Amino acid sequence: MFIVLLGPPGAGKGTQAQRIATATQLLHISTGDMFRENVKNETELGKLARTFMDRGDLVPDEVTIKMLLERISRPDAAKGAMFDGFPRNVVQARALDEALAARGAKIDRALLINVPDSELVARLGGRWICRGCGKLYHERNDPPKAAGVCDACSGELYQRDDDRPEVVASRLEKQKPPADLIEHYRSAGSLREIDGLRSLDAVTASLLEAIG
Ligand code: AMP
Repeated sequence: MFIVLLGPPGAGKGTQAQRIATATQLLHISTGDMFRENVKNETELGKLARTFMDRGDLVPDEVTIKMLLERISRPDAAKGAMFDGFPRNVVQARALDEALAARGAKIDRALLINVPDSELVARLGGRWICRGCGKLYHERNDPPKAAGVCDACSGELYQRDDDRPEVVASRLEKQKPPADLIEHYRSAGSLREIDGLRSLDAVTASLLEAIG
């Protein structure tokens, strides 16, 4: 089964993807996490991606698509995956469709998490990530047991550079799922819309139900 998670930054894609991966054992592929890993390791790809990420811009399609296609060609992605943060536009969606079609697969579900803008700004400001294992927290909605320390691995929690208030507003404008991307999956019959303005558990339950 192949699933894409769609939604604006702060809709809860990453958190929900981690929960769904645990519940279903589906492989979680996050292009944002892959870019952050490359930035951390100071690879050539990381240095390039960083110039876009720091401004709240998308990394160019050819770079992102190449990275994603390489990732899904690995054996662990043979039977299925859940994509979080990819595709961000129709060009990326078509590249993914083609790669899956070449192996007789397709996107079975596109899950769109809807959250109003006012709430997104508040959410992005309170987000914390574990340096050790990447687990996500939110100061208000999903805090760690001890401030600044990961419940899962005791790693140090940090805030993403692109969650700084001056970047958040422009990132929201530039990175909402475009209407033609949503239409791409609606016309394929795979789109399901989920109300993201509820508790984490309620949203997870709806997503799992939509996956079936
Ligand atoms: P995310 O963790 O999904 O919010 O991604 C963090 C940053 O990585 C984004 O702000 C983009 O700069 C970049 N990025 C992640 N996924 C993509 C994608 N599919 N296309 C282009 N840029 C991406």
